[in-house]
Amino acid sequence: QVRVRFAPSPTGYLHVGGARTALFNYLFARKTNGKFILRIEDTDLERSEKVFEEQLINALRWLGLDWDEGPDIGGPYGPYRQSERTELYHYYAQELIKQGKAYEVYAYPEEIEQLREKLLAEGKAPHYTREMLEPYNTAERKREYEEKGLRPAIYFSMPRKDYVINDVVKGEVVFKAGSVGDFALLRSNGMPTYNYACVIDDGLMKITHVLRGDDHLSNTVKQVALYEALGWPVPVFGHVSMILGPDGSKLSKRHGATSVEEFKARGYLPEALVNFLALLGWSHPEGKEILTKEELISSFSLERLVKNPAIFNPDKLRWMNSEHIRMKDTKELVKLAKMFINRDVDEAYLEKVIVAVKDRIEELSQLPELTDFFFERPNVSVEKTPEAVETYKALLEELQKVEVWNKENIYASFKTAMKNAKLKGKDFYMTLRLILTGKNEGPELIDILEILGKEEVIARIQNYLN
Ligand code: GLU
Repeated sequence: QVRVRFAPSPTGYLHVGGARTALFNYLFARKTNGKFILRIEDTDLERSEKVFEEQLINALRWLGLDWDEGPDIGGPYGPYRQSERTELYHYYAQELIKQGKAYEVYAYPEEIEQLREKLLAEGKAPHYTREMLEPYNTAERKREYEEKGLRPAIYFSMPRKDYVINDVVKGEVVFKAGSVGDFALLRSNGMPTYNYACVIDDGLMKITHVLRGDDHLSNTVKQVALYEALGWPVPVFGHVSMILGPDGSKLSKRHGATSVEEFKARGYLPEALVNFLALLGWSHPEGKEILTKEELISSFSLERLVKNPAIFNPDKLRWMNSEHIRMKDTKELVKLAKMFINRDVDEAYLEKVIVAVKDRIEELSQLPELTDFFFERPNVSVEKTPEAVETYKALLEELQKVEVWNKENIYASFKTAMKNAKLKGKDFYMTLRLILTGKNEGPELIDILEILGKEEVIARIQNYLN
């Protein structure tokens, strides 16, 4: 059974890159009837915060990427928060020491740093070996550590051999012998390093596939060496390329909104964001672009993950959002719209308004601007030329005669009024639109009149004429 995980560090908002990683894992799990696991990697005590964990969880839920095991719901391989798993990390570190694959180091961080600088100054790669590190472990130093209540760091003896990884995205990746030196598993504060905790957890949680950003590709050699040392099966790896901004550099704040929260606040639908992110590094077998979550699940495969970096195109995301808004059930859209329109409105009236503007929305945050004239009279000064005054007086008379306020009858009064009027065709409609809405564009004029209702339309025309 496929078991995949998303393993964010709670050090900030959920960014689109992380969301995409979560999504690929989620789609793969759902497609294969596997399990999707959420694990919180909070071993960096200084940078990890509980509020970020909550935000991550909320953002993932909002996206609709539900997990089968995680810190909030538990599961058979918990706990799912690394800070609650330190005993496990210590246990396996001792096992590796017993087997001679890891060793204690009683060097202060400054000393490790000095060693690094010395190696660099000698023109060597900053790779540590047991021979370099163990000399720090003097009896005196051990006593010092004990007195200060410190614990030795634990280092892994990295085998100096070639490693070959068959990455499902990158293909064969070779790490030459000696490209990595010995590295810490546990720091002297007792906390595990990322590579170590990741392997212990992925191993114990029976993770079968690790899909993540290729910023972790260079870590993979260390992780594979650890799996081998522990005698555990190595998962399948898939490293997707980083997301780039439209200018080809790594996507960052400079390119605008990058966190899921920001897109939510601007009125993107989770369906649209999910659709968009799925196509950043994966493509549909028939090249389909607008896809529901169900379609994404059924057509997802690792084979279609692409090697080339994906470009984040905000215009495409806007387009996708407008498409998903059109596809959205009107009642549900009305519920969402309320949060953006933010005024007390009659639900049935709002529904009519939403139907009228649905095709014009790209971001729900545009709603106040797109719909304000439905809720309040516009502030406009439309020029009162004699021709216009005469025309709309005639229209007013016709509209007043309408008994059943529907499109057909409204249209008929337009026709009658226009017959003898000075303003005709485009001029007639454009000016009327301005009088009623204060804008040059918007939904169908006839829809606007129908929704505003007879009384209000007459009042607005009268206002203009007075
Ligand atoms: N906590 C790591 C990160 O957020 C997880 C990387 C991984 O998936 O192994 O980058």
